[in-house]
Amino acid sequence: MRLLVVEDDRDLNRQISAALGEAGYAVDRAYDGEEGWFLGDTESYDAVVLDLGLPKKDGITVLSDWRRAGRSMPVLILTARDRWSDKVQGFDVGADDYVAKPFHIEEVLARIRALLRRATGHATSELVCGPVRLDTRAGRVFVDGNAVKLTSHEYRLLSYLMHHAGRVVSRSELVEHLYDQDFDRDSNTIEVFVGRLRKKLGIDIIKTMRGLGYVVAEPEAKVASDHS
Ligand code: CA
Repeated sequence: MRLLVVEDDRDLNRQISAALGEAGYAVDRAYDGEEGWFLGDTESYDAVVLDLGLPKKDGITVLSDWRRAGRSMPVLILTARDRWSDKVQGFDVGADDYVAKPFHIEEVLARIRALLRRATGHATSELVCGPVRLDTRAGRVFVDGNAVKLTSHEYRLLSYLMHHAGRVVSRSELVEHLYDQDFDRDSNTIEVFVGRLRKKLGIDIIKTMRGLGYVVAEPEAKVASDHS
């Protein structure tokens, strides 16, 4: 999962980006509205943290320009405390959630998790596929209840595929959503990561669709075993 943080307060931007990075996301940063708008308009993000008070282009304008151009990624806005009108305006132009400053970073992390899972149709913070369980709160993966140690890239890859379970994800889409802007992107490395991930999980939940990409099967719906 790849996120964008648009915040002109450099310390705050660094703090948010670092926390999101530690939580396992690839993170790009922008420090003014124009740069933020441009990145959101041209890159692929799974969610955006957007401050409203920004130089060059204010957050409301950035967001409404994205929405008008059909950019539909979930957006969490950062608002000043007690500015109820900011929140109303933010929601009206297409914000999905907000956090009032000052905030606890844990709240931002929790809201981002919720936005990501809602955007991909999941109701809880735990994603399950067969014996594999991915805990998005703890950033951990279990197979048959046993913890599996993954690198941040492997975790990001599995997390993206499990959030989009049942859908074939192309290699280029993975490249766009797993790496930040500064990363030397190469779609061949995806194959390597998938190979390592399969080995570590010890079970093949990631299917290769030749020429198309990869898919993690959607968990089968629980069927009632009897009618008594
Ligand atoms: Ca600001």
